[in-house]
Amino acid sequence: MTARLQTLIGGRWRDGSGPLYGTEYPADGSVVAELHAASVADADEAVQAAEAARHRPSWAGLKPHQRALLLHRMAAGIRDRAEELAQLQRLDNGKPISETRALVASAAGTFQYFAAACETLEDQVTPARGDYLTMSLHEPIGVVAAITPWNSPIASEAQKMAPALAAGCPVVIKPAEITPRMAIELARIGEAAGIPPGIISVLPGKGALLGDALVRHPLVKRVAFTGGTSVGLGIARIAAEKLMGVSLELGGKSPTIVCADADLDHAVAGVLFGIFSSSGESCIAGSRAFVHRSVHAAFRERLLAGAGALRLGDPALEATQMGPLVSGAHRESVERYVALGLAEGGQLLTGGARLAGSLYERGYYYPPTVIEGLPNGARMVQEEIFGPVLALLPWDDEAELIAQCNDNPYGLACGIWTRDYRRAWRLGAALQTGTVWVNTYKQFSSSTPFGGVKMSGTGREKGRLGILEYTTQKSYYWGLNEAPLPWSAA
Ligand code: NAD
Repeated sequence: MTARLQTLIGGRWRDGSGPLYGTEYPADGSVVAELHAASVADADEAVQAAEAARHRPSWAGLKPHQRALLLHRMAAGIRDRAEELAQLQRLDNGKPISETRALVASAAGTFQYFAAACETLEDQVTPARGDYLTMSLHEPIGVVAAITPWNSPIASEAQKMAPALAAGCPVVIKPAEITPRMAIELARIGEAAGIPPGIISVLPGKGALLGDALVRHPLVKRVAFTGGTSVGLGIARIAAEKLMGVSLELGGKSPTIVCADADLDHAVAGVLFGIFSSSGESCIAGSRAFVHRSVHAAFRERLLAGAGALRLGDPALEATQMGPLVSGAHRESVERYVALGLAEGGQLLTGGARLAGSLYERGYYYPPTVIEGLPNGARMVQEEIFGPVLALLPWDDEAELIAQCNDNPYGLACGIWTRDYRRAWRLGAALQTGTVWVNTYKQFSSSTPFGGVKMSGTGREKGRLGILEYTTQKSYYWGLNEAPLPWSAA
């Protein structure tokens, strides 16, 4: 059944003033929701309403522990509807239900974490260097635009909303056009939790129109963006003109390193999970596996057996590990990369072609694919595919390995599989990356900052400092001198 959605703009549930469009269930192409896109005028209305709402006593008058209470209620609201939200998220982007349940739990955890951080964050009394008391206070920066991609909507949106609200900022969310549902549900949960009207708005529709309008809007004081690197660079350019801060969580081409002494059971499971979970539609997908030549053959054999045993299928089933890709257009882009890799001289070890059968033919499925024989410089090994495609590369020498891992425009994450903690430390220090996973992969904690270096972005989400990204510092000097300043005494 097709759901008819409305959205929350400036405190009012209504249709956007843009065209009606439908969103598809990637597992069978059926239209699961219809809604009107927002327009540029709606974006302006949302921002103006947010600016007005943030100054009203109902929001500006809240002490941190009172804002924290609202965030705790949001966490509880998400948990109360956890199964329903997980099912809706599955319909939105086709991820397996086991994974969407984890995303919903993570979103609730994010609100809970930032509620706690909100009421325990302290300002500073700085050491005085004269007859005055100095302090530096954090103030909410103003209206925040949160722009999110389609791959993990509820988690990405929570990671922006929770710290922004904790900091005292209103949030206008621009979800990916094809996955608007979770942002709309979070707005509903926020309203039920008691977040005042105007503090949360959601603008479904086209990024080039609405995202752009938000980034350029003079009252938007910070953009928190997750998405592709080229869009992120465009946002950074516009932000520079406004002298506006941005956090950019962008793409990746993360290396995973398997050393000669690695526990191969762990390494094989970790590499499979790193690239094939979420069907590879993950910024942190471990898409380049560098395996020491001494264990390469054994590793490859076990990797291929593992890839062949993965359960690719109906995302509604508990046991499914990989669902369909998000859309037909995205699957075609993945297919073009596989064709490119083969044209560049790569050898296909598994996958590489659509699967037959009624289930697979209805949805946008693509099997786990492994290609070897390509140098690190090949385009297929350098560029983000955002699909279930792994490049397998042997290595011999540690210095050469480090050079190859770093020889890539991205720097989001890496995995290191070894029993030698000194080597892990050495490699971790040498790799240009935002996150290092040692003998594990794709693990996340709300309390640990996340973000990239190089073309993977700038700024950090999560962690207590994640709140400070949404604040500006104001410093006070309180004069304690008994006599007038020497100038006036002159
Ligand atoms: P995308 O960049 O196409 O879109 C992301 C969001 O930006 C969407 O809401 C889109 O509508 C909006 N947008 C598009 N054009 C815009 C513009 N000109 N101005 C403002 N907003 C605009 O990315 P996508 O295809 O939705 O998602 C996939 C990408 O996201 C991948 O590159 C992936 O690596 C990246 N990603 C990064 C992280 C991370 O944390 N680093 C996490 C998930 C996804």
